[in-house]
Amino acid sequence: MSKKIKKRPKLIVFDLDYTLWPFWMHSQVNPPFSKSVSGAVLDSKGITIKHYEEVPKVLETLKQKGYVLAIASRTPKVNSAQQLIELFDWNKYFTYKEIYPGRKTMHFSKVRTQSGIQFDDMLFFDDELRNIYDLRSAGVVSVLVRDGVNQEIVNRGLKDYAHERSFK
Ligand SMILES: [Mg+2]
Repeated sequence: MSKKIKKRPKLIVFDLDYTLWPFWMHSQVNPPFSKSVSGAVLDSKGITIKHYEEVPKVLETLKQKGYVLAIASRTPKVNSAQQLIELFDWNKYFTYKEIYPGRKTMHFSKVRTQSGIQFDDMLFFDDELRNIYDLRSAGVVSVLVRDGVNQEIVNRGLKDYAHERSFK
């Protein structure tokens, strides 16, 4: 029998702080944010706020390939995180956004309920081990992000997913 069909997740979930952007929303930037005439995103002190460089390209590519995308963040700065996502023009990529403090298994349960997609069919990227442990225990293939999301780590995650699911 051919094994050419590579198993792929239906839904890919991303953390925010130190996963899609290089700072803690609650302590390292100064909301509210705004957009300058040149299109740069600034915080209230006029400091330019950047995401990890490859993120928009990565999200665009995943979306084009048919993956459903979601955010699961524990930041207490819910409105600021939402505002920044809007200013980065990322709302077009994310079908689900669960942003509030608490254990991340809760965020995932909400996404599962809304989407009807099971944990088995999800892939998760986060920079914090406690979240990786929690979601791995719940059965989600979870990838620890060390230097922010880029194409390389997403490719590795998709490969890990295909590998793990092929033997189950
Ligand atoms: Mg994080």
